[in-house]
Amino acid sequence: MRYERQLLIPQIGQSGQEKLKKSKVTVIGVGGLGSPVLTYLVSAGVGRIQIVDCDVVSESNLNRQFLHHTVDIGRAKVLSAQEKLASLNPEVKVSTVNQRLNPDNVKEYISGSDVVVDCVDNAETRIMAAAACMELDIPLVEGGVRGFYGYVMDIGKDYPCLSCLGYDTVKQKTPVPVLGVTAGIIGCMQANECIKLLLGIGAPLYGRMLNYDGLSGNWEEVHVKKAADCPIHARAEAGKRGK
Ligand SMILES: [Zn+2]
Repeated sequence: MRYERQLLIPQIGQSGQEKLKKSKVTVIGVGGLGSPVLTYLVSAGVGRIQIVDCDVVSESNLNRQFLHHTVDIGRAKVLSAQEKLASLNPEVKVSTVNQRLNPDNVKEYISGSDVVVDCVDNAETRIMAAAACMELDIPLVEGGVRGFYGYVMDIGKDYPCLSCLGYDTVKQKTPVPVLGVTAGIIGCMQANECIKLLLGIGAPLYGRMLNYDGLSGNWEEVHVKKAADCPIHARAEAGKRGK
């Protein structure tokens, strides 16, 4: 009954639903993007979900991170999220990693995932996750927001990544301005990409960066090419050879 309406979709049906149940997804970051991503993956019946975050809930999170409520201030985000998700759909196994990802542990945590969804707010983790996913050949759904603007793109070892675009790891020193609804829109797009990738349906956003401008209401698709001198693709190749 829970999945009745999505079972009616020809591209999903019973076999797609079983595929979702057998799938494992890792979501890095349980904030403004992670909240919609996790809510929709859990409600869609993705069987196993691992959430990674080392933060605690603060009041300034609450304008966009809707898995956390006022009573959760001060609690670990992974536990606050796990509790809400278990209440939403007890059929899904939600495991937690309350640790900061670093170059030594990232591959261990994401290994075995069918898809990784990047919901972080810092360039360092984004680049690290992208390199690890490419090395392990796991599709990665990337998304980001600033103000009314957001983007979403799928990344894979044979497809362009953010570094191909010249994205660098300069640390953001001040909080990124974000409207909650913008993170919600982009997070929903990431959840949609994740479900497409798990089911092998539709046209994934590989090499296609979808940019959203909430003020004009426009979506713009930018075609991205894999850069020959991309350091992340080079690192993933070198990591693979080193095994
Ligand atoms: Zn690249």
